[in-house]
Amino acid sequence: MHQPNQLIAFQTAIAHVLAQHKDYGLEEVTLEESLNRVLAEPIKADRDLPPFDRSTRDGIAINFQGVTSKEPKFEMKGMAQAGSPQTVLEDESHCIEVMTGAVVPKNADTVVMYEHLEKIGNVYKVLQPVSKGQNIHYQASDFSKGGVLLHEGVRITPAEIGVLASVGKFKVRVKKLPRIAVVATGNELVEVDENPLPHQIRKSNTYSLEGLLKNQGILAQSYHLKDDPELLKRELQGLLEKYDVILLSGGVSKGKFDFLPSTFDHLGVKKIFHKVLQRPGKPFWFGEHSEKGALIFAFPGNPVSTFANYHVYFLPWLNKTLGLPSNEFSVFLEEAVENTTDLTLFKGVQLRFEEGRFKAKVIQTTGSGDLLSLSNIDGFLQLNPKESYEKESLVPFIPTKRFA
Ligand code: AMP
Ligand code: MG
Repeated sequence: MHQPNQLIAFQTAIAHVLAQHKDYGLEEVTLEESLNRVLAEPIKADRDLPPFDRSTRDGIAINFQGVTSKEPKFEMKGMAQAGSPQTVLEDESHCIEVMTGAVVPKNADTVVMYEHLEKIGNVYKVLQPVSKGQNIHYQASDFSKGGVLLHEGVRITPAEIGVLASVGKFKVRVKKLPRIAVVATGNELVEVDENPLPHQIRKSNTYSLEGLLKNQGILAQSYHLKDDPELLKRELQGLLEKYDVILLSGGVSKGKFDFLPSTFDHLGVKKIFHKVLQRPGKPFWFGEHSEKGALIFAFPGNPVSTFANYHVYFLPWLNKTLGLPSNEFSVFLEEAVENTTDLTLFKGVQLRFEEGRFKAKVIQTTGSGDLLSLSNIDGFLQLNPKESYEKESLVPFIPTKRFA
């Protein structure tokens, strides 16, 4: 698609990635499994909500016609507990004790809470003014049976789980998620529980990526492949059969052991682009398998590059694929920032909420290997090539931490 080694602008790269959004279909999952998934059916109320006139207080239920004086009295004639069938108020001079959540008795229209009552023998005296209908949550006042409570396309958070449970949805139709493999490449990498030799490092990218995907409700499988062309061909061939998306880290730069671009070529993965005018994350390689449609996001191995590119490319792609809105927004600069380079810069910042606005402060890092900086930032500013931004200007922001 592009000349070899021709770097493309970030805006072109992200447009190519988003153009590859997919539809993986629908599936049914249990209520418990539906957390973080995208709802694929409208959810309707299976009955009125509330399903009956319910008391919102512990106290007594009366008929308002019985309020004939400043401190009216009612003879206690029964008890209505939450979870018991409806009782009947036989006379305006009577009352029935009701608990929060109980069905308001037949012929009653008003509830007075215990705090406003005085009990004298079997009689309750009302000490405070009463208004007709008080403390009753009327049947269908929230929703009528058949009303749409949740629209398809929303992400199921714990708030939606509660709604689904309340209407008896123990099976929920959701959008299917892509099957994802996370692959670390590099001979220098050892497992987390190993003691690295002086020339080795523990792998971290696959763990970060797995965690990021888990936040999206995706359980990825993780792999580690050595920098060996034959092994890479063999193993990646197998992964292309099994997965919809492969996220790789490392092996796409100019090094003599960066074998991934030639491996993809050999395996029939069509390069859509390689290398973007951006920092960090410049040697990003993106492609699609010609027959199977599997997508390859091959990020440069530096932990900050992998982490940034996941948020810059993969997450917008996933949101588009699932029909979710972008999670990016704009923030105000605490200090002027200048981008003198011809690259799009992703600058790690901390946010502060002040006077109703998010303000961003740039966090200095020691380069794209500065893994620790990632835990100190709330996200990245996206700075256009050769652009100066004044203090207080509004700049696009890509969050890396959750704002909930
Ligand atoms: P590469 O893109 O393969 O040239 O790797 C760039 C740098 O990132 C090297 O210093 C690698 O050791 C490091 N690196 C690559 N993969 C990982 C990983 N999975 N975890 C931590 N560091 C990595
Ligand atoms: Mg490498």
